[in-house]
Amino acid sequence: MLYDCAVIGGGPAGLNASLVLGRGRKEIILFDDDTPRNAITQESHNFITRDGIHPAAFKKAAYEDLNKYPTVSVERNQVVDIVPAASYFQIQTGRGQVFDAQRIILATGLKDILPEIEGIQQFYGTSLFGCPYCDGWELKDLPLVYIAAYPHAFNSVKMVSNWSKDIVVCTNGKDSISPEEKAILAQKNIPVLEDEILRLQGEGGQLKSIQFKNGKELRREAGFISYKLQQAAPFAGRLGLESNGAGGIRIDPYGRTSRKGVYAAGDNAGGLPQQIVAAAEGSKAAISVLSDYVAENF
Ligand SMILES: Cc1cc2nc3c(=O)[nH]c(=O)nc-3n(C[C@H](O)[C@H](O)[C@H](O)COP(=O)(O)OP(=O)(O)OC[C@H]3O[C@@H](n4cnc5c(N)ncnc54)[C@H](O)[C@@H]3O)c2cc1C
Repeated sequence: MLYDCAVIGGGPAGLNASLVLGRGRKEIILFDDDTPRNAITQESHNFITRDGIHPAAFKKAAYEDLNKYPTVSVERNQVVDIVPAASYFQIQTGRGQVFDAQRIILATGLKDILPEIEGIQQFYGTSLFGCPYCDGWELKDLPLVYIAAYPHAFNSVKMVSNWSKDIVVCTNGKDSISPEEKAILAQKNIPVLEDEILRLQGEGGQLKSIQFKNGKELRREAGFISYKLQQAAPFAGRLGLESNGAGGIRIDPYGRTSRKGVYAAGDNAGGLPQQIVAAAEGSKAAISVLSDYVAENF
């Protein structure tokens, strides 16, 4: 069978794209290997009508919506390759199956690269977070640590101060805060500790303290970290898509990439990393697929 469109990735972007396409009477197939970057968090915020929802409950509700539409097929499966053929794409899965589709929406998201600090994985998503817009409210007015192990952390520290004034910045021995920035933070009573971190200590996902290699200890039970992001899947490179210059796939305002028939939506296209934005971008990419289809076939 030749599907009208394959959607790769079942996060908010891919799920919403699938809904719009399914309701648009297109035969589509959604692939999802179910490893979204927010899987480690217990609550997701800022999506009106869904504030505080567990990411798994969000997905369950989304699949219930999609199940209403016989036009939507779902493969809970990893896509390992996308091979362009003459006028369609061959999608290969990790189980060795091959599916054909005329168009592709890439909604594969990003992966967080955390600083290499012992124990950090244990607390990320439960007492240490990356995004103050997502989790700042829950940490408001608490004594916080900001682990600024990557460059350009200053603006994030400033943003975190919107939720709590009691912040200690730890650079883990890196040049992530310049002397000028350090002086500005000092004026705001935000100390910067430049000692190298030995490990983060706590239990059950609850941070208790930051232990330094020089024997010092900072007791903090919550905070934020700087992190890097990378594409979760390699398809942008494989399909020769243009980059937006910041690690994302370049798209037009309606989700079209530089390659005909390939669209992108959500975090992987450099959108503001929020679920509601990803869902909206999924909707836009799906509407582009529909309007391009009608333009070619009317
Ligand atoms: C700890 C944490 C907390 C967050 N909290 C919030 C919050 O409170 N509010 C908020 O709005 N945002 C939050 N975010 C950000 C939010 O999760 C993302 O912006 C959003 O999920 C992006 O949606 P997406 O659909 O682009 O990608 P994702 O949600 O990452 O979904 C991508 C999907 O594609 C699948 N996939 C990838 N590669 C393949 C492949 N090769 N084959 C098949 N499937 C594949 C993945 O398994 C995944 O299901 C948080 C992020 C993190 C890390």
